[in-house]
Amino acid sequence: MAATEAPECERSDPEARPDAAGAPRAKRRTMLAVAAASIAVVLVVVLLVATGVIGGTTTAGGRQQRVAADRTDRAEAAPQRPEIREEEVEAVVAARSRALAEHNVEAFVAPIDPTATELIAAQRRLFANLTLFPFAEARYTVSNQLSRWVSDSGRAAIMVVVSFVHRVEGVDPAAIAENYRWTFDRTSDGGPMWMTAVSTAPYGGVTYPMPWDQTALVVERRPHVVLVAAVANKAELVTWADKAEAAARRDLDAWRGPRLPVDRFVVYITPDRRTFDEIATTKGRGPAAGVCVGLAPLTSTEGKQTRQAGCRVVVDGAGKGFATSDDAIFKSIVEHELGHAMVAGFAPAWTEHVSWVAEGFAESLPWSDPRMANMYNPTARAHVKDGGFTGRLPTDGEIHSADPATSSINYHLSMQAIRFLAEEFGTGKAHTFVAEVYRDASRLDAALTAATGLDRAAFERKWARYVQDHPGS
Ligand SMILES: [Zn+2]
Repeated sequence: MAATEAPECERSDPEARPDAAGAPRAKRRTMLAVAAASIAVVLVVVLLVATGVIGGTTTAGGRQQRVAADRTDRAEAAPQRPEIREEEVEAVVAARSRALAEHNVEAFVAPIDPTATELIAAQRRLFANLTLFPFAEARYTVSNQLSRWVSDSGRAAIMVVVSFVHRVEGVDPAAIAENYRWTFDRTSDGGPMWMTAVSTAPYGGVTYPMPWDQTALVVERRPHVVLVAAVANKAELVTWADKAEAAARRDLDAWRGPRLPVDRFVVYITPDRRTFDEIATTKGRGPAAGVCVGLAPLTSTEGKQTRQAGCRVVVDGAGKGFATSDDAIFKSIVEHELGHAMVAGFAPAWTEHVSWVAEGFAESLPWSDPRMANMYNPTARAHVKDGGFTGRLPTDGEIHSADPATSSINYHLSMQAIRFLAEEFGTGKAHTFVAEVYRDASRLDAALTAATGLDRAAFERKWARYVQDHPGS
């Protein structure tokens, strides 16, 4: 594995080859940074409240502070200092929701400081992007954290966490919140209040950035796919949408488990690696050709036990799989990521998956393609033939190892565990097992026995024999 020159995936491994003709294999990641993000929210909010930076305008402390300031002003007969009232902010937030619903871009950018030309341009681009998506729900709401500060007597400024609450039609079973931080300024008493900055509130929302935040987009809809790409890739859009739709149909047709939570997916093909990394947050987890970014439903932020709202498939459009006309690579990446997206909704929000089950299932989908019959993973094959195989099911650490060869081998071994389960006990049993482990990872052993009649040790021995009989293939 030429790790240093193959940042996106193992498929660029010059060793990787089919027995006959075809494409090498890819490595992908699923990302669930949700729990960590939520913890960060709590920490940051606690810190800011403690230092007085954040205070809901509805809190008693905020009111007292304002009243005290007013009294001081009156007592000293000083000029009224500018103030921003929460009703004003809420009115702007509501107006922007209306502007979105009415497709009125001028109303959408009207609250922005006319001198903030870059912000206006970015918000116009955002607006244009949003109009391309089939939203069943799309609105802005003031988050329950309203942060504010008054910088000095001559200026009032307020930073508000605003949630973009949305649900893509046919894709998202529940509304999702993407959080932004909007800044408003008023420089003179009675003067205009302008929106002067929009930034991320990543610790308040697990979903930033969404595709629409990054670059001008084009969107193509299919029955099972909403394909998103940069304007720069407009020429490829229809072809990509057709290929992704074919991959989705293949995955959905292959499913033999319980009824799936969703059967339509947003697939975003990023224009470059930087864009991919920003949205996929793969840094620190090794290279990837694609990810499925987990989404928590809006209600999960209120502490209710809810299912995950699925995941967004993001594929690195600058990866080597896109530099060839061989669509086997494209389809195998998308089939793998859509595999994650299909079953993501079985899991509770903010949960980690059992990697050999999650990656093994996702990888089993492209590997079940008849075109893969003569394919093999040379790294995994050499590992088994050279006696490196321990006979143990892969750990999370082995699968997500920073060492590309270790990761490659263990993705493949995981795939073989799910494929062995399907071949030996039936695809229905295998897929039901996957769904059960997603629903409650602590019941893995019970689900395995329900599917196979074996305890984990006995299953492991049989799977190990299968691996020895099918080295790397
Ligand atoms: Zn994966």
